[in-house]
Amino acid sequence: MPERSESDSRKLLRRLRDTLATPGKGQDRLDAITHLIADSMGTEVCSIYLFRDPETLELCATEGLNKDAVHKTRMKLGEGLVGRVARSGLPVNAADAPSEKGFRYMPETGEELFSSFLGVPIQRVGERLGVLVVQSKTARQFSDDDIYALDVVAMVLAEMTELGAFVGDDGGMRALHKQPVMLRGSSGQEGAAEGHVWLHEPRVVITNPVADDPLTEIDRIRDAVGQLRVSVDDLLSAESLDKEQKAVLEAYRMFAHSRGWLRRMEEDIQRGLSAEAAVEREQNAARNRLEQVPDAYLRERLQDLDDLSNRLLRILTGQGRDTGAEMPENPVLVARNIGPAELLEYGRKLKGVVLDEGSVGSHAAIVARALAIPLVINAGRAVNEALNGDHILVDGDQGIVHLRPEETVARAFRDKIAMLTEAQKRYASLRGLPATATCGATVALHMNAGLMADLPSLEGSGAEGVGLFRTELQFLVRSKMPQRAELARLYARVMDAAKGKRVAFRTLDIGSDKVLPYMKPPEEPNPAMGWRAIRVGLDKPGVLRMQLQALIRAAAGRPLTVMFPLITELGEFREARAHVMRELHREKSLGHLVPEKVEIGAMMETPSLAYAPQAFFELTDFISIGGNDLKQFFFAADRENELVRRRYDTLNISFLSFLQQIVARCRDTGTPLSFCGEDAGRPIEALALAAIGFRSLSMRPASVGPVKALIRQVSLIDALAVIEAARADGAESARPALMDWLAGQGG
Ligand code: PEP
Ligand code: MG
Repeated sequence: MPERSESDSRKLLRRLRDTLATPGKGQDRLDAITHLIADSMGTEVCSIYLFRDPETLELCATEGLNKDAVHKTRMKLGEGLVGRVARSGLPVNAADAPSEKGFRYMPETGEELFSSFLGVPIQRVGERLGVLVVQSKTARQFSDDDIYALDVVAMVLAEMTELGAFVGDDGGMRALHKQPVMLRGSSGQEGAAEGHVWLHEPRVVITNPVADDPLTEIDRIRDAVGQLRVSVDDLLSAESLDKEQKAVLEAYRMFAHSRGWLRRMEEDIQRGLSAEAAVEREQNAARNRLEQVPDAYLRERLQDLDDLSNRLLRILTGQGRDTGAEMPENPVLVARNIGPAELLEYGRKLKGVVLDEGSVGSHAAIVARALAIPLVINAGRAVNEALNGDHILVDGDQGIVHLRPEETVARAFRDKIAMLTEAQKRYASLRGLPATATCGATVALHMNAGLMADLPSLEGSGAEGVGLFRTELQFLVRSKMPQRAELARLYARVMDAAKGKRVAFRTLDIGSDKVLPYMKPPEEPNPAMGWRAIRVGLDKPGVLRMQLQALIRAAAGRPLTVMFPLITELGEFREARAHVMRELHREKSLGHLVPEKVEIGAMMETPSLAYAPQAFFELTDFISIGGNDLKQFFFAADRENELVRRRYDTLNISFLSFLQQIVARCRDTGTPLSFCGEDAGRPIEALALAAIGFRSLSMRPASVGPVKALIRQVSLIDALAVIEAARADGAESARPALMDWLAGQGG
């Protein structure tokens, strides 16, 4: 890089910084900057275009174009050369702009007079803010150095924008992170919460993008990169890494030791950037490349570089996860994604969770559900938009997030929360009462659980017991396989907390969406229909047996209830049951106390089991329908796939008919039957299930109240008649008829 251009760009940056340091209005500063850049670059024109909304750019300041066009000229993303820069995030350098494809003539600016155009994006990591343009009359091919210099200036502008340098009522920029934003994601867990943002990984704020002393900055960056290398090497030497984690860390190491990366950052510093700004500049460049790369593998590697840059920024600024910032009151966690163990660590202090990514079946979602914290997933750009402490509303029912909401929105939202709280109070008053319908039939309501943290709800919710204890959560939140003694202690605590109420422990249900961090899943074309749940347990019985031993020891003579997930045929149930018998026998022979009574049940989650031989219904002590899985296999619609998961109604007459057959078979053999999928917790669905003969339902604790309240108001005989009438009418679903009927009941 030529010496001259280095110091030129340093000079420009210094002038820029001085301009920004003098007090002034936002618009005045923008005007001064365009003047300064045009002067330094030797161009007639310099203009700053900023986003008004995600689709529209507005000319916000100019030197050389018609000043009357400021705040008037607008263009859509992708429109004209400016729009092209904004969309691609890449510079456009055109010696003869009017002949360039996509050039848009804007008479109000007097632009046709200028032939050469150089535009660079104004962006901050992950966030496009606008476009910086210089133009000249004479046809001129801007050099690489010119592009570089303008790019560095644009980056400093972006940093200053973040710090609010151009905000003003005088037509300057709207402040970032000040406006209300509504984000639409999907529902991960129902419920509503109001609180303040707590960023899992707070954004690093750079207050000093320009630095005077390159030597000091180079020392700082070298030192920080040195620390980064050591920390990556340390991570790599950890013993418990699997192959995949190792591969990722190897890639980290490769980048951390890459001479090119450090050299580019040092060059940026020579041009006048501070060490932090240099890291961010390279991070921006990597992000832009990321978007252009079609190859998934390369994209992942660039993602690694992005993560690494964040680590480096944290080292340089001392900001980041452990900033010492205090968690605000009513914290709502905002993160790109989060692991189950980390989420569990925050625990119930969180009022809500918002994830940019995530999926309904992700482990974080499972934990959020277990903790009954409203969760919105796929929120898109929450991490970019939110700042620690921002006021936030989370609508887990609709999958909507309001960030820094207007007061009217907040008021309406509070009404909703108040209504929910009011309803909860009403439900609490029913706590000691049974779910007895007006026809006299009673439905036993149980709760689903998976964590020790769930157990206090057993009393609060009015549930009669735990109809489904998902034991895999304990495995999912650990970084290594739990030991038998540890599990036995935990199960004993669960039974203690249940105070004699029945807890149906489901043995490990892994595979499909539930992948243990320490057990690499096999490559499967369709994991939901693959090697999962009891299939793994029977093929590799070591963990199953260890778990059964832990359960028997935990019971220490008390009654024990065990059930097996995804039993598909009689033989599997026989085999699984035999494991229990064998372990009971073994424990007894070791002199351990064995449970006074053991119930062994099967989860019916595949249609095949509904048609199993009579012997199955006779052998099993009870059946619990895993409606989430049973429904996905009945309709062949993946419960995880947003495109189809809501496509078929649980109250579809075909599905209800199928469930009725199961009820009838269980009645014939006197086999206790329960339903424990998510649908059991939805009042209308629960009512329909009760109407067709289910006398036991297991659901999230928060659902017990609403379900009980509805069942107590209606006659199940009448509800069944409504379903039968809908069937006779040839309806696809019983829902409309049931809703009409309920509306008529005033329900
Ligand atoms: C089900 O499939 O309905 C069920 C309760 O099990 P899980 O949701 O844990 O698969
Ligand atoms: Mg299931």
